[in-house]
Amino acid sequence: MNQAMDGVHKVVILGSGPAGLTAAIYAARANLEPVLIEGLQPGGQLTITTDVENYPGFPEGVMGPEMMERFRKQAERFGTRLINGEASAVRLGARPFEIDVDGQGTLRAEALIISTGASARHLGLPSEQRLLGHGVSMCATCDGFFFRDEDIVVIGGGDTAIEEAIFLSRFGKSVTVVHRRDELRASKAMQERVFANEKIRFEWNAVVDEILGDDKVSGIRLRDVASGETRELSCAAVFVAIGHVPNTKILAGQLELNPSGYILTRPGSTYTSVEGVFACGDVQDWTYRQAVTAAGSGCMAAIDAERWLEEQG
Ligand code: NDP
Repeated sequence: MNQAMDGVHKVVILGSGPAGLTAAIYAARANLEPVLIEGLQPGGQLTITTDVENYPGFPEGVMGPEMMERFRKQAERFGTRLINGEASAVRLGARPFEIDVDGQGTLRAEALIISTGASARHLGLPSEQRLLGHGVSMCATCDGFFFRDEDIVVIGGGDTAIEEAIFLSRFGKSVTVVHRRDELRASKAMQERVFANEKIRFEWNAVVDEILGDDKVSGIRLRDVASGETRELSCAAVFVAIGHVPNTKILAGQLELNPSGYILTRPGSTYTSVEGVFACGDVQDWTYRQAVTAAGSGCMAAIDAERWLEEQG
């Protein structure tokens, strides 16, 4: 049995992306002796990206996995206890809160910081998986820069896809948005902007059947949803922007979520609808979703938790 399962901890943190590890650094430095459960993908979404060039303090850029390794070391340096495992259930109905860690036992915590993140929704194609990081990307802000003067495809019809298409039009020779219907889900304001952009064109009523290329993307095979006809389109990059899924399954029914499943926090803070539970990072942010904003909100969660614990005496 893991020793961390004994006693009641002041703070338990769920998730080891920039939000969770920053919360850990701050909580550890405030002598709260945090215990952090790393989750299914230690290091979070950044471990599946390559170069990170927009995180302040790294003028030459840094590889996503290396950056998360540095975050982790910094959290450990100040005494964070990391548990390699996944929270399989939480009980928030009474304090101390209880967190079951798959097969390792149950942790008890006075305060809980949730930073379980969100996962980009994938198309589910084997070729998408194979070429991820080799022309297939889930994040235009992260990777757009690498496709200067290239033909770029964006898949999706929501605000994220349109925002990414507009952003990518600054770099690419052309941007083609592939959407499965004949009208966008994105807001009217975004639609006006995208339709006015001469570099952006649309493939309506189309889905991507296959992403082509051996060791890097060379094109896509499109299928018309009505006729079933297929044809190929050449491109160097495919940005998949078909939404994110917040990792809140184990929280359903226990604290307030929005209709898409994101945790609702009190404006300007990380307080959730359950006292003593704080949320930071992408699990409560469907707008910015950047490593630096996640880290910032992780810092906020640790400070909120520290002050809340202090008030409890
Ligand atoms: P959305 O869920 O709004 O949109 C997802 C898009 O992807 C939809 O157009 C959907 O098609 C399409 N899609 C979903 N699954 C598939 C699939 N398997 N194959 C092909 N297409 C698929 O997600 P977003 O990430 O765009 O936005 C999430 C939230 O964040 C929204 O509330 C949005 O308004 C907000 N947001 C706001 C921004 C802003 O205000 N600046 C910027 C970015 C996001 P269909 O339309 O047919 O369902």
